Amino acid sequence: MNNLVKGEKYDWEMVIGLEIHAQVKSNSKLFSMSSTKFGSLPNSQVSLVDAAMPGMLPVINKYCVEQAVKSGVGLNAKINNYSVFDRKNYFYADLPQGYQISQYKYPIVGEGKVTIDFKDGTSKDIRIVRLHLEQDAGKSLHDQNPSKTYVDLNRSGVALMEIVSEPDIRSPDEAGMYISKIRSILMYLDTCDGNMQEGSLRADVNISVRKPGDNYGTRCEVKNLNSIKFIKQAINFEAKRQIKILESGGTIEQNTMLFNTSTGKTRPMRSKEEAHDYRYFPDPDLLPLEISDQEIQNIKLEIPQLPDQLKDKYINTFNLSNYDASVLTSEKQISDYFNHTINSDNELKNFAKIVVNWITSELFSLLNKNNIKLVNSPVSPKNLGMLVKLIARNEISGKIAKDVLEEMFASGKSPQEIVDEKDLKQVTDQGEIEIIIDDVIKDNSKMVDEYLGGKVKLLGFFVGQAMKKTKGKANPKLLNDILIKKLTKKN
Ligand code: ADP
Ligand code: MG
Repeated sequence: MNNLVKGEKYDWEMVIGLEIHAQVKSNSKLFSMSSTKFGSLPNSQVSLVDAAMPGMLPVINKYCVEQAVKSGVGLNAKINNYSVFDRKNYFYADLPQGYQISQYKYPIVGEGKVTIDFKDGTSKDIRIVRLHLEQDAGKSLHDQNPSKTYVDLNRSGVALMEIVSEPDIRSPDEAGMYISKIRSILMYLDTCDGNMQEGSLRADVNISVRKPGDNYGTRCEVKNLNSIKFIKQAINFEAKRQIKILESGGTIEQNTMLFNTSTGKTRPMRSKEEAHDYRYFPDPDLLPLEISDQEIQNIKLEIPQLPDQLKDKYINTFNLSNYDASVLTSEKQISDYFNHTINSDNELKNFAKIVVNWITSELFSLLNKNNIKLVNSPVSPKNLGMLVKLIARNEISGKIAKDVLEEMFASGKSPQEIVDEKDLKQVTDQGEIEIIIDDVIKDNSKMVDEYLGGKVKLLGFFVGQAMKKTKGKANPKLLNDILIKKLTKKN
């Protein structure tokens, strides 16, 4: 695939690596018993540990560790039997400890990989460097008082998984697919709720550009992006900015950038010279984390079917394309919906491709337009299955099926009810169609002569006329066949 970006003078290749922060799905924090519930009153979920009162000791949350191990398995990664919590020291108002407990030299999860799938059927592996556990910081609120900043420590101490990729990503689209895939895997595992709007999944994006074949260039890092749209915008803006500098003979400074979501531009936050020296050292309050092979094995037993396995199953069982199967498994709610649909009637197993099409094009577009999530779809999987059956059995045409689906969406009725009520059943009776066609031929004798004289394009006109007479309900293939037969006979 050609992902090159045209500059004024040269073609450039983007080189991108992501550091994803995924909030661990857990009721309590990484080192305390406080709740992690989102949206509670400020500072209502802060224990003495989270507030860093002197003398408090962190106690590791076993469940969070298991969640990290599960995630590592889902990323096809090596789980480390031995890992260490370090203190990452810096001063900030929303960090009462004065350091973040993180993992540095010895992370809980090592090298792995995830696969992204392209529309053209090809796929690509993105390598993972590591996944480590760390604490989240609190939140500074700058918009509550014109002259003061408030601090909410509810998030302080919540467990995060930082997932670092190799710089294997080559375009904004690939970056979007990569983070979507990670999100999907974590959501199937139930180790992260995947809610990007609430910040449960966010990314720092590292970007550099190079001429194809050259060594990696100097990168800049754009901090804390919480939507795929912003990730793509930031990459595009940053790549163009760097290309402009390089083409005019300048060099890239390794900066940390902030992204302005209203202008779509990046601006420097700090340069490498100002970079923090975090003075990492092992946290003396915590022992190294040791996990036995047996414990890892037990956790593996709890792991459900993951998107890639499910994808293979769809390809093998239903003969779906790699891309269709990857769309179905891109989110658990989609594959759940598909499973419910296809399992609602044995006959549907032969029409899997039609089911996919109706879910991913027509139903998705209605859901999008009305801003409704698939789990809340007014069209139940069973009813969608019934609709597909009506289409596949040629009882209604595809065109009419679209109207029926809209009505199902608005009313929650079953397709059969709507088809009966409105008498939309496809006309497949040969005799009935013949009568209509005879009429059309009789009423348009001049056109028929022109058609027979070689103006074959007129066939469409006759089809249209006949369709109109049946209010769009004639079986199109049958209508076509009879029409051609009758016209040829005239000759
Ligand atoms: P640091 O320790 O300074 O954060 P890392 O080596 O851990 O640096 O890299 C951080 C992220 O930057 C990784 O996701 C990696 O893939 C990415 N990265 C490294 N080099 C480059 C580069 N030249 N261009 C783009 N991204 C890069
Ligand atoms: Mg880093």
